[in-house]
Amino acid sequence: MTIEQDYISTHPKSAALHERAARVLPSGVTHDARHMRPFPLAVERAAGSHKWDVDGNEYVDYVMGHGALLLGHNHPVVIDAAQAQLERGTHYGASHEHEVAWAEEVVRLVPSAEVVRFTSSGTEATLMALRLARARTGKPAILKFDRHFHGWHDYVAASSKYGGAAPAGVPEATAGTVVVVPAEIEAVHIALEERPDVGAIIVESAGASSGAEPIPPGFLRELRSVTEEREIAFIMDEVVTGFRWAPGGVQEVEGVTPDLTALAKILAGGFPGGAVTGSREFMERLAFTPPGESRPEKIGHPGTFNANPLSAAAGVACLREIADGSHQRTASAQGLKLRVGMNECLSRLRIPGVVTGEASMLRFLLGGDSPPEPRDYHSRDVPPGRLAKGSPGEAMRVLQLALYNRGAFFFGNSAIVSSVHSDADIARTLDAWEASLTAVKGEGVL
Ligand code: PLP
Repeated sequence: MTIEQDYISTHPKSAALHERAARVLPSGVTHDARHMRPFPLAVERAAGSHKWDVDGNEYVDYVMGHGALLLGHNHPVVIDAAQAQLERGTHYGASHEHEVAWAEEVVRLVPSAEVVRFTSSGTEATLMALRLARARTGKPAILKFDRHFHGWHDYVAASSKYGGAAPAGVPEATAGTVVVVPAEIEAVHIALEERPDVGAIIVESAGASSGAEPIPPGFLRELRSVTEEREIAFIMDEVVTGFRWAPGGVQEVEGVTPDLTALAKILAGGFPGGAVTGSREFMERLAFTPPGESRPEKIGHPGTFNANPLSAAAGVACLREIADGSHQRTASAQGLKLRVGMNECLSRLRIPGVVTGEASMLRFLLGGDSPPEPRDYHSRDVPPGRLAKGSPGEAMRVLQLALYNRGAFFFGNSAIVSSVHSDADIARTLDAWEASLTAVKGEGVL
């Protein structure tokens, strides 16, 4: 039986659900990253570091809510807070204490945070950050980096893994206000000379694809100084890195203070939510003008689910739980074990490729000239361009199926580790990795 036949025969209910889904959902999915052939897995329940599909197969989960679940699925602290809130109502259409406590936690943890505005997602957070930046600087254009991802709205759709240089449906007038350059300081200087209308620079704080393609050392500092010199707003997108790299995100680790920061994912403890935060100066454009004062025009920001009590209650519980950094340290230590173990295996099997990453994230690449050394590789250890080039598509697809067949639920070619992934989970995953690579090699696609 081939790997794919094995996958099809052990996941009949997922296949049937996908057939139903394809009638009412484009390609049968609700997130582009979930699209896969022959069909994606449908999950029924999750707990801790595991999840179970509709056919009853169990997996060690490395998607972890697309990075939202640093504490794993259903952490009791978060669930208790959410359950208590459910009984008291999910939407008051009014101010409430949880939103204040939530903002206080963000201000406590994120070094650059003075004032917070909640949104419903990371996409909305970057959208608002860019608008705040334009309003503050009076300059209409933004500069983003090649392949950096900031959500799917019109201003950031270009040149990310989900859109090319001129994404369909984005008006030319909007696209014309977006300058895309490689993440190199020289390219930034040249672009800013050519485009004095740039009012904001936005960066994925650890580099493209959540740090898989890292930015050069010192780059954030250089961006901070060039934006200061030229009166440009500096926005750090910490949607993935926020609360994961450290309680205060990459800005805490690197000691760089942006004007504005976009947050989401861990922020809301596994519930929907995002936020833009920053200096009072920048954020005040969201405030109403007190009677008798005159201020520049306020930016409007309604939003039915902004800081809804359920997300807020879960978010407060989560941020308090992760505030001392111990969950981040545990998740990073487990991530390191997984990266090293996966490289040891590639090395032992003499399979060209490499597993890279930092903090509690990893990516694997297949192909290239040689197997890796049996050690950890920071994404920066891999030659520039190698990550962007990717891996042989069919080998990656079949490897993913093989991993599913053996109970390892990777997120495409990446894994996101939580603080509840145990040594037994890592050992089981490494067994699955070795057996899957062997099986894929056996099919001649590797
Ligand atoms: N920014 C980054 C760096 C992200 O990785 C994502 C989502 O993965 C977003 C923004 C968008 O966040 P959301 O999916 O909550 O809209």
